[in-house]
Amino acid sequence: MNKALMGKWLWKLDNEEGIWQTLIKRKYCSNKTLSQIEGRIGDSQFWKCMMDIKPIYRSFCRVKIGNGRITSFWNDIWLGSSTIADQFPNLFCVALRKDLTVAEVLMSNLSSLKFRRNLIGSRFRSWIRLKQMCSGVHLSDSDDSVVWSLSKNGVFSVKSFYKALKVQNLVKDRSVCWDLRIPLKIKLFLWLTLKNKILTKDNLLKRGWKGGSKNCFFCGKDESIQHLFFDCVVIRFVWSLLKIGFNIGPFANQDHLWRAWYLNLNIHLRKLVGVGLAAVFWTIWKTRNEVCFQNKTVKDPLVIVNLICYWMSSWMILQKSEEGGRKLALAVRLLEHLASDLISRNHGWKFSTNLLGE
Ligand SMILES: [Zn+2]
Repeated sequence: MNKALMGKWLWKLDNEEGIWQTLIKRKYCSNKTLSQIEGRIGDSQFWKCMMDIKPIYRSFCRVKIGNGRITSFWNDIWLGSSTIADQFPNLFCVALRKDLTVAEVLMSNLSSLKFRRNLIGSRFRSWIRLKQMCSGVHLSDSDDSVVWSLSKNGVFSVKSFYKALKVQNLVKDRSVCWDLRIPLKIKLFLWLTLKNKILTKDNLLKRGWKGGSKNCFFCGKDESIQHLFFDCVVIRFVWSLLKIGFNIGPFANQDHLWRAWYLNLNIHLRKLVGVGLAAVFWTIWKTRNEVCFQNKTVKDPLVIVNLICYWMSSWMILQKSEEGGRKLALAVRLLEHLASDLISRNHGWKFSTNLLGE
């Protein structure tokens, strides 16, 4: 209920004026709009909670554009049924400024949108589409107005927000993966994993799959989400590297990892750690599928570590701040060093399982 109440404060900041709003805006927003503000170290508990809940809150808001001044061009829903960032992820990830307002972009005739890459191929096609969409929008003199999509009259209610949080079990799970700066596909994969819904063999069997062996492709034991990401010899090797390098884990299961540990990290650290964990989970899943569908073998644990590093590196550019990207780069380097060091000291140690091609 607390989180739903926080939504009320955010709504008041968006839609009402008063002494409280002025004070809060002066203290936390300086000259930015609410949609551009992120949590910072040293924020009060109250503000920290507000910033934690903001991405979920905003996902239920739609902005009717007036002068475009309080609306985030990339991150608010104002054109189409999702944010521009979600509709054009290939442009968003190379955008130099991700905090522009709609007014700043449209009044400059889109020339304030600058990208760190040349727009060629699919990016160019996206760019043309984005330009077409924006050409249909005209700014006016009135203020932007925020519409709450969960109620008929468009006005925020604690009850509707609470229900939405509860129904979708968002209170717990959204904060785990939806605010990470990784491709949407990976967020979805993590979300499904959390819900125990990805198609490991035990889940296939529950759906009446009759495809034969239910053995893990890596080690031959029964495959399940629990096995693949926590108990298998492959993932245990990864967890032990993470333990040595970053003092992370080991974890007993998903609940232990995501709820008991991850959600208690401070928000800045959490977002970076989350990107790393997403890379670990994604690598294991991709590798498992390659072994499964393309008959590849994994002969060396370094392959797994290199892949984790590869995914982390390719998501660096998506991070909000350059500092975040730099920290990820450092983590990648540490992980690479650690793996090669460990393996050379063990004279080319490999997984002791024949399924891995020994
Ligand atoms: Zn296994």
